[in-house]
Amino acid sequence: MTLNMEMDRMKSPAMVEAPTRRTTMKPTVLVVEDEEALSTLLRYNLEKEGYNVVTTADGEEASLLVRECNPDLVLLDWMLPSLSGIELCRRLRTRTETRNLPIVMITARGEEADRIRGLDTGADDYITKPFSTTELMARIRAVLRRIRPALAEDVLTFGEVVMDRTAHRVRRGEREVQLGPTEYRLLEHLMQNPGRVFSRAQLLDSVWGSDVYVEARTVDVHIGRLRKALVVGNEADPIRTVRAAGYALDEQFMN
Ligand code: CA
Repeated sequence: MTLNMEMDRMKSPAMVEAPTRRTTMKPTVLVVEDEEALSTLLRYNLEKEGYNVVTTADGEEASLLVRECNPDLVLLDWMLPSLSGIELCRRLRTRTETRNLPIVMITARGEEADRIRGLDTGADDYITKPFSTTELMARIRAVLRRIRPALAEDVLTFGEVVMDRTAHRVRRGEREVQLGPTEYRLLEHLMQNPGRVFSRAQLLDSVWGSDVYVEARTVDVHIGRLRKALVVGNEADPIRTVRAAGYALDEQFMN
């Protein structure tokens, strides 16, 4: 299906249908694309697939948005007016917090050398324009499944900590862990991203939502409660406090 055909289809009444709601947290995709029509098309299709979508046409702004909206995947156009997609990709790969952030590059037809360079720079996959949105959605799902399998799973496991998202229960070994709703969401978010360091601001955005005002130290309070519930006696603490940065699930806990 061509881009124009899809744009026409978007204007049809089917567009007013609300996107399918999922009980688990929706993954966020940051779309960095300067072609407005394509950006709109991508947003439409991604939202239909159940993603939260943030868009920008500018590479520099994208760099800031990555910190602010903490996306689960970046869909990145190669050719951008200010900071190029490739430069942004390189920049994201050098930052600890975004070193493993899934990136799918969009390149123009036939830029074979560029594609290879894109993968060398650290993109997880690429797709060549013009592409079918069906194929792109499949690629995005595949990248997320490969890199962040936890986003799609009903049961999350981190060492002896097991979260059953269907039953809404958490166990550590044989012991049932009782958590308040905020501690549950906090743990869920950390377990979806084991080892990744989140700042307090990022946790506030992902767990509390960006539309509520909560002080950063509230995060510390809830992390404290989560720890108290997870760690009994001299059990190892799975949560690592990263000085001046935030919190992460400690990968050493797995060893
Ligand atoms: Ca472009």
